[in-house]
Parts: sequence; structure tokens; C-alpha cells
Amino acid sequence: MKTFDEYKDERLLAEYMEKAVAVDRIGQSYIFEGAKGTDRQDMALSLAAALLCKGKEGQSRPCKTCHSCSLMESRNHPDCITVTHEKPSTVSVKDIREQVIDDIDIRPYYGGRKIYIIPDAEMMSPGAQNALLKTIEEPPDYAVVILIVTDAALLLETIRSRCMILSFRKEPVFVPEGEEQEEIFRRMDNILKGSKEEDAASLMSYARMLATDGKDILPDLFSYIESACRDALLTKCTAELTGGTGAGYIGKMSGMTYEGLENILQAVDRARHDILNNVAAEAVLDVLLLKMREA
Ligand SMILES: [Zn+2]
Repeated sequence: MKTFDEYKDERLLAEYMEKAVAVDRIGQSYIFEGAKGTDRQDMALSLAAALLCKGKEGQSRPCKTCHSCSLMESRNHPDCITVTHEKPSTVSVKDIREQVIDDIDIRPYYGGRKIYIIPDAEMMSPGAQNALLKTIEEPPDYAVVILIVTDAALLLETIRSRCMILSFRKEPVFVPEGEEQEEIFRRMDNILKGSKEEDAASLMSYARMLATDGKDILPDLFSYIESACRDALLTKCTAELTGGTGAGYIGKMSGMTYEGLENILQAVDRARHDILNNVAAEAVLDVLLLKMREA
């Protein structure tokens, strides 16, 4: 079990979680999305341990020394329930009913909270998701449900809209090679930061250049934009928890609204989808860059 300061790849996420625990602003349903091998499962256990920790006032949580933390370390805490499934490729209504729905109204064994972790949540049948939906709509105030998925898009919209979605990096951050790629990423940074150098005409020529010379690195460029937006979102959330300004992205992104950042993320999704479906890349990129400029 890791403490929040042990996360190197997910520093912003860990910092957000730590602050949220410290000021007791915890949501009741989360989706941790990311590929297998990312920190999604470890972070769910750290969050559970932090919420259940009985460490002294002012101590950082999880403290790793209290009785509750040692139960978590041995994966034997009665108030942290990891949902298992009988069939290898399905989480059924029965699994959800027996391990979550029928259990959640029983008060926590140690008083505090009760955490439900659902790994492989994308394997939940639609029936299982609908059964769970009623629970996450009105959970008892001590309960926290964490769904672990590869991609939140694999869950029903009704579930997604009730959860806070936290994304874990799928790949290491792309490092551009050579002058041409460096220039492509430098200009993308400029656009993300709202540089005045980038007007409508320069965006169009950038889109043309990307559609020809930059075609091979478009997937990396899209991931780059997404990770910049996610970092900005997290920085914003963390700053709100502590009342500070956050040491996030310089320039435009730090002042962007949640909506503006979400709009960029949606536009990237759209662009990726269109390019996979062979829509002319230059037009797709034109639309994306303009959306980014407007956001
Ligand atoms: Zn503890």
C-alpha cells in the first residue's frame, strides 16, 4: 500500500487525493480509468486506506502505522470491500447485488467509512450497472464506491454522470524527437497557453503542416493535449480544495473554466474519431485548433 507522496507518475492526482482527504471533501463515487499497469488500483487502495486511517489528528493519511492501516496492508480491512466476480469476463447483477447492494446498508465495522472497490468495472453487464446505479444515486453517507475501468466510455452514461472521473496515464509522456517534432509540440504549447502569436491564419497553416508532416505523431499530440487539460483540471480542483491558486499551467490554462477544459477534451475525442474514420485530417485539425483557441 502506497502513501500519496509515493506516486511519481501521478503526482497531481495523488496531491489532489491527499488534499481532498485532508479537508474531507470526498466524493461518494469515483471512476478511476486507465490501462492495466497504471496506478489506478494502487490509488484506489491508498484512497481507501486514507479514508479508513485512524492516525492522529494532523498526521498525513494513510499513516501506515495504525491498526486500520495494518489491516489495509494485509488486505483484511472489513470496511474495504473489493468486489469479485464468479465468471471471468462478466461482473453480474448477482455479484453486484450480493457484494454491494445487500451489504452497503450495514454500517461500517469500525465506525468511519466503508469503501467499495469494483475492479474490471467495464465487465459489469448493463443489468449490473443499472442495479448499481440506484446505489450510487443515494448511497449512505459513509459509503464510497470506486469503479476501476480501462476507459470510462465503456460504462453507461447514467453511471458516468454520477461519478468523478480520474484518468491515469496510459503511456509515458511523449518526448519529441528532432527539430521538426519539437517545433510541432512547441506550437501546441503556445496554443494551449493562449499565445497571441497564434491567430486564425497561423492556426490554419499549422493544421496544414500537421496534416502532412505531422501525421505520424497525431496520436501522441492528441494525448499530449489531453494530458495538459487533465493536469489543468486537477490543478484547478486541488487549488479549490485548499483555497490557493495552484502551481499549474502558466498562462491561459490556469484561468480556464472547467467547461472550457472539458470542451477541449471533447474536441480531441471527436478529432481522434474523425481521423480514424478517414475524414480529411486538415479539416479535422482546423476545427480542433479553433475550438482550443475559443475555449
Ligand atoms: Zn493509519
